[in-house]
Amino acid sequence: MTQPEKNKKQSRDETRSKQLLAAYMTQGREKLTKFFDAHGISLPVLGVAMEQFTKSVFALPGGAACKEGCAYCCHLKVAISIPEALVIYNELAAQTTPEGFEALKDRVLGVAAGGDSLDEAFWLKTQTPCPFLDIDHNRLCLIYNLRPFSCRAYHSTDIDSCRKGFEQGCSTLIPCFPLYRATTDMYASIFTRVLAEKGFFSYQVGFIKALEILFTNGTASDQWLNREDVFKPAKLI
Ligand code: SF4
Repeated sequence: MTQPEKNKKQSRDETRSKQLLAAYMTQGREKLTKFFDAHGISLPVLGVAMEQFTKSVFALPGGAACKEGCAYCCHLKVAISIPEALVIYNELAAQTTPEGFEALKDRVLGVAAGGDSLDEAFWLKTQTPCPFLDIDHNRLCLIYNLRPFSCRAYHSTDIDSCRKGFEQGCSTLIPCFPLYRATTDMYASIFTRVLAEKGFFSYQVGFIKALEILFTNGTASDQWLNREDVFKPAKLI
């Protein structure tokens, strides 16, 4: 294949990927809107929606360099939708013992106190691990089944790029499977958009800052469900 033919094929593939993504997005938004119309919007309903979306995430394609215990990307800023933060927090409260919950709270607040967790540079320069990374044991995610969509989406086909970014404390272009990444990230966008359409204060937030709000304000979930802008300090621009 000549170079112009290769370029043409690449451009056709990219157009097809964009069309596919747009179709998935529309389908997901319609489904979630209908689901909320039928069941209302509450913490349990958000939990079911997140569970269903999680089941829809495609398997990571073969050829990814990601391996158990490799956690370079767990030292980066994580952006999530507000419903994800609510569901994760709620599940942590339900699934852990009071002591375990307090320990997680300490870990989250410890990271939050270390600097501006909304700033990408904080993570890059300080190599701070996510509070849910079991750094002293096996470097696995303590909330693996509950993790945000952006964590599920993030992957790499070249571990050297990940290592380089981590060691040099700089933002690096990580080669990946773009369609897998976009279709997985899409679920957070669907949550954000549909809830904004339903009149909620809905935008992307920093994972740790949103959890800090939930751990320190026992009524934050209810306030948000009552359409108060309680997550504003965690808003990402
Ligand atoms: S939630 Fe889990 S997967 Fe996501 S950054 Fe934290 S440790 Fe890593």
